[in-house]
Amino acid sequence: MRVLVISDIHANLAAFEAVLEAAGKVHAVWCLGDVVGYGPNPNECVELLLEQPNLTCLLGNHDAACIGEMSVSTFNREARMVVEWTQSVMTEENNQFLKERPLVSVMDEVTLVHGSPRQPIYEYMLDVKSAFENLSYFDTDFCFLGHSHLPLMFTYYPEDEHVKLRFPIAGEPLSLQPRSIINPGSVGQPRDRDPRASFAIYDTDSRSWDLQRVEYDILRTQEQMREVNLPDRHINRLSGGW
Ligand code: ZN
Repeated sequence: MRVLVISDIHANLAAFEAVLEAAGKVHAVWCLGDVVGYGPNPNECVELLLEQPNLTCLLGNHDAACIGEMSVSTFNREARMVVEWTQSVMTEENNQFLKERPLVSVMDEVTLVHGSPRQPIYEYMLDVKSAFENLSYFDTDFCFLGHSHLPLMFTYYPEDEHVKLRFPIAGEPLSLQPRSIINPGSVGQPRDRDPRASFAIYDTDSRSWDLQRVEYDILRTQEQMREVNLPDRHINRLSGGW
């Protein structure tokens, strides 16, 4: 089964459309949360997501904030502003979709979360120490997660009980070694200085992970953000991928 693994769309419709086109035909879509927040198209992104085959979608911290299930006290002023704007435009139906999102989903050999197995919407998985600690919080061979907006892969080596961090290269598929924790990067707001939208194709039969990057119409998203007065900093960062 060919699965499209995406995360952190962040209401960026132009990026999401480019990813769907580049991914081609897939049997299922696994979305690791943060469908909304930052970008100008929260409703359009939820609606396009709902059209995808065999969709599984997790709750992210921005989604939780937008539906009022998480305090925005940890957000900075600009991020709070975007939460308020998103709340003002979201339809009741799309809000309801976000409210029904789970914190954790287990798909056979893969556990899906937004942040980490230990703290599903809060923790950033950025170093081998937290990856090692999180191994005891899920039982499957693999864990796919988002939140940091960085395409990373942590693999556990039982021989010497250590975790190695790797940076998968787009277009060079890897065969996944159990146990691994993997991030497909962000569709709508990449932060690894590569502004192209990031996603992965996971093949459940061969257990391969194919990270891909695709260019999208960044100017279109930025223009729409300006029209609705979203913060300049969030507009500018899309061009630099930070
Ligand atoms: Zn995010």
